[in-house]
Amino acid sequence: MKIAVAKEVEVGERRVALVPETVARLVKQGHQIQVEAGAGDRAYFTDDQYIAAGATVVTDAATLWGEAEVVLKVSPLQEREDGQSELNLLKPGAVLISFLNPLAEPEQIQQLADRQITAFSMEMIPRTSRAQSMDALSSQAALAGYKATLLAAAALPKFFPMLTTAAGTIRPAKVFVIGAGVAGLQAIATARRLGAMVEAFDIRPAVKEEVQSLGAKFVEVALAEETVAAGGYAKEVSEASKLQTQMAIAEHVKTADAVITTAQVPGKVAPLLVTAEMITQMQPGSVIVDLAADQGGNCAGTAAGKDVVFQGVTIMGPINLPASLPIHASQMYAKNISTLLQHLSLDGNLNLDFADDITDSACVTHAGVIRNERIKSALGAVPAVS
Ligand code: NAD
Repeated sequence: MKIAVAKEVEVGERRVALVPETVARLVKQGHQIQVEAGAGDRAYFTDDQYIAAGATVVTDAATLWGEAEVVLKVSPLQEREDGQSELNLLKPGAVLISFLNPLAEPEQIQQLADRQITAFSMEMIPRTSRAQSMDALSSQAALAGYKATLLAAAALPKFFPMLTTAAGTIRPAKVFVIGAGVAGLQAIATARRLGAMVEAFDIRPAVKEEVQSLGAKFVEVALAEETVAAGGYAKEVSEASKLQTQMAIAEHVKTADAVITTAQVPGKVAPLLVTAEMITQMQPGSVIVDLAADQGGNCAGTAAGKDVVFQGVTIMGPINLPASLPIHASQMYAKNISTLLQHLSLDGNLNLDFADDITDSACVTHAGVIRNERIKSALGAVPAVS
């Protein structure tokens, strides 16, 4: 297949969809890979490395996109600096594989369907063992969780580890992680490696053992409602449960040097868990890193993409942390996307089997229609009558 790797245009995006190592593997399988000139620059992969791996480097975006059977990207489609829209560059009938943020940006999914694009959204890969090697949400969340802890450690005016020195004994920092999914667990593991004392909370009781196995203490809150939805994700809980959670975690926030929040519910605004009142109870100099910043934030006062200081507490709202580790983020994403490509192909050609749950779930548009009911409802569209 003729596969194009587009240069990312989103501000701050430093990742690239394929790294030279995966290009070499795909070329060996018989695919023709075209890489937009400079696509890997911000992740430190040069055009020469792509050429050495067997790719062709293309300077003209219209040629690259217009000739490709499959276009690979990281971020959802954008307007380019040269004024061209990536959507319009796609050849009708082509395949697009990328993060597409389909529940938050369903209009773009409709445009892809209207343009007769077969689009695969990396967010819609099922979270199952069989799909684990294609699960880019997990690979990228692990990077975000790791970096969140490093941000907290760098901003905290204290050591993380306990130190016994001639100049006295230093107590270890206390880190409280809220939301122990993929990012939260990696944040816990990183904070433990740095020697902090770690506590964690999640509304899914099933994560208790994972938290404990990382050497952290699990904060239990017995909610009177089901907190787990289909697919193992957290459900959006009632206001009463949110209030009960806030009351239960207040003591732990108050005594933490660093709070890392990662709580999200797919397709919904992130739950507000750390209130302004809780922040006023924290010691000045404490740090909060809110990984849910671009979903509305878990913390009062979070500003997406900014650091805010409130009553001496630094509240960081980083967005797209995986892009700050572009080498490994690209390497892991490239592995996810190339495994998906392999999953969708037979004898080097695309072979879409919608009876397969991974293909069925990840393919959001095909033959002119949106294939996913949740995206249709997000769009407010009436499902097509067949
Ligand atoms: P996510 O990013 O959607 O959410 C992060 C965490 O926030 C989750 O653990 C969630 O339970 C928690 N959360 C949501 N609302 C909360 C609240 N009000 N208070 C406290 N915590 C709250 O989650 P994710 O990391 O993408 O993982 C989602 C699910 O997918 C998990 O069940 C995970 O185990 C599962 N998963 C499975 C596989 C696999 O089987 N291969 C791979 C990855 C993830």
